Amino acid sequence: MIHLKTCPICDCHELHPLLSTVNRYDENFASHRNAEINHILKNVLDIDEVQISALQCQECKHLFLSPTFSQQEIERLYSTQSAEQMHVFYQKAEQHSGRSYQEETCSVSGNRSEELSFRQQFIRDVVLNFRKKDIGKLLDIGGANGENILLFKQAQKYVYDLDLRPENLAPEVEGTSSIAEVQQLAPFDLLISTHTLEHIVSPKAMISDYTAFIREGSLFYIEVPSEYLSILMKHYLSRFRETRVDIHWHINFFSPSSLKRLMEQCGFRPLYVKTHLMPYNDLSMRVIVGVFEYTGAPQSFSPRFNPVWWQEFANDFLQTLYLKGHRKLLGTAPKPKPFSI
Ligand SMILES: [Zn+2]
Repeated sequence: MIHLKTCPICDCHELHPLLSTVNRYDENFASHRNAEINHILKNVLDIDEVQISALQCQECKHLFLSPTFSQQEIERLYSTQSAEQMHVFYQKAEQHSGRSYQEETCSVSGNRSEELSFRQQFIRDVVLNFRKKDIGKLLDIGGANGENILLFKQAQKYVYDLDLRPENLAPEVEGTSSIAEVQQLAPFDLLISTHTLEHIVSPKAMISDYTAFIREGSLFYIEVPSEYLSILMKHYLSRFRETRVDIHWHINFFSPSSLKRLMEQCGFRPLYVKTHLMPYNDLSMRVIVGVFEYTGAPQSFSPRFNPVWWQEFANDFLQTLYLKGHRKLLGTAPKPKPFSI
């Protein structure tokens, strides 16, 4: 395990622990989230007990877990066997905790083909709202079989995935697991990354690396789970009763402002950053969606992108109430308005 001494987004040294708990391996934990923790303790780490903390950066308010996985542990975590086991545990945990929430919020959830068509349409509509001309070439990073990008009809569509299975690729999509090949195909007009940055120890390094494959004016669509509120709520509840922070294969818990901050640091201008409900694997997941434009040069930070956490909480809460009143989401992907700067 490695201790993160600086914020993974803004490199600030001032980190405030919100929650801290000792996670121990326990043979008796057999179900749900505890099984996932046990799996990490038993198969990924060299120790069977770890004190984990949720840290908050005092500069950009980003939340993350520390200590976190070393490179060797990351490899063990995502080796095929581990990943499959983790997926089973994760599904169990979500079925246990998410069912009633899902039924309340999104009528699309639970039907895989409707979920997929919703996501395809959503990504295309959000991106094309900011790019009227055709996307020439696009790359979905970690895009598996490429099914999320099929509705970009005119574009040359590529996926980059480390354990790519070419036989599963969707028609009209080409794939590679070689970063050298990605470099040869560059520049891209659009990069897509969904549900990846939360797993990365240094998201800033990852985004910076990808700026080598785009040009000024290229877009980056990013989707990450919105989980920071649950950590904040646990932190505030801990004044009244015992709450835990558990080791998790997610390292980063983004808020809209920390995602914006990350992208600005890497030379992007935020066009749109908002929380949405997304149907995903039989659930409605709350996700943060961002569309960013590469400006070709890093920009300096502006404090107006750094709202205090309760403003974000209020926005999210109101948005959830609004979405509960709109249960027929299928076929009505949102028409986002440009993010005002
Ligand atoms: Zn920070």
